[in-house]
Amino acid sequence: MRAEEAASQLAEIAYLLREREDHYRARAFSKAAAALLNERPDLDSLRKQNRLDSIPAVGAGIARTLAELVDHGTSPYLTRLREQDSDEPASDLDLAGYRGDLHTHSDWSDGKATLVDMAVAAAKRGYEYLAITDHSPRLTIVHGLDAERLLQQRRLIEAVNPELDGLTVLQGCEVDILEDGSLDLPDEALAALDIVIVSPHVKLRQEPAAMTQRILRAVSNPHVNVLGHPTGRRPGSRPGAQYDFAAVFKLAAELGVVMEIDCDPARMDLSVEHAKLALRLGCDFSFDSDAHHPDELVYPELGLWSARRAGIPSERMLNWLPLAQLREVLQRG
Ligand SMILES: [Zn+2]
Ligand SMILES: [Zn+2]
Repeated sequence: MRAEEAASQLAEIAYLLREREDHYRARAFSKAAAALLNERPDLDSLRKQNRLDSIPAVGAGIARTLAELVDHGTSPYLTRLREQDSDEPASDLDLAGYRGDLHTHSDWSDGKATLVDMAVAAAKRGYEYLAITDHSPRLTIVHGLDAERLLQQRRLIEAVNPELDGLTVLQGCEVDILEDGSLDLPDEALAALDIVIVSPHVKLRQEPAAMTQRILRAVSNPHVNVLGHPTGRRPGSRPGAQYDFAAVFKLAAELGVVMEIDCDPARMDLSVEHAKLALRLGCDFSFDSDAHHPDELVYPELGLWSARRAGIPSERMLNWLPLAQLREVLQRG
């Protein structure tokens, strides 16, 4: 079995465990899945030598699950967890046509690597584009960027792009949705960006009617492209915002604002259930890592199972578009 396939199954186990509030084991399975993607070990030969537990982050328990995967292609443990969940895979989406990540951070805000390092890592993954979407100014603890620093960052991106092998860096921003639904940057600053993500980060417990108005207002701004991790949930530790999801998804579909599936295993937001609803109500999607480090660019591989379970085809995902078409969509007509 290829390391990527095994990683996808471990990531699904992690998610199902997190839903059951088994945080400790969920984290262990997530870490092991990420290690498999970053190390790409030869699982078949390690299995023969009985050395699966020599892979970083793989302890004895996860090694047993991996052994089952290598021997039989499936894990009885995962099957059991899925049965309790009663949902079966609904599409056979793969990442062969995935052209780029639209939500990543650099050390201009709270990322752990430089913009150039992120871009080089994305080019190595064969991406056609990478959006750097650092935070907006209100999030001072993460050094959010104001209009002035965004301009400086734009100049860097313009200087870097010609040097990159086949990759185009897009400049975006992950703009905070303020409590009243206004945005944390003025319209002129938003207009200058290639892609605008708006995300809820604070006051997630607002009561649902107010939260609905807040999100509807944010989505209505004509510069907005993506609603980032739409609920802000952290499965197992933070429930995320509650609002009239159908109303938001309908308006977003009408306006051409896409819903993000943030594949950071600690988020997986939208959930499968919400993604299904958004799909049915006509939304398209952005399928992103929210990476803060080059190693985290693997996250879309960890989230693949959720898009499959939600039945989302690649035609409904921005990240499968060639750059020229993507740019057209981001112009919102
Ligand atoms: Zn965020
Ligand atoms: Zn982010």
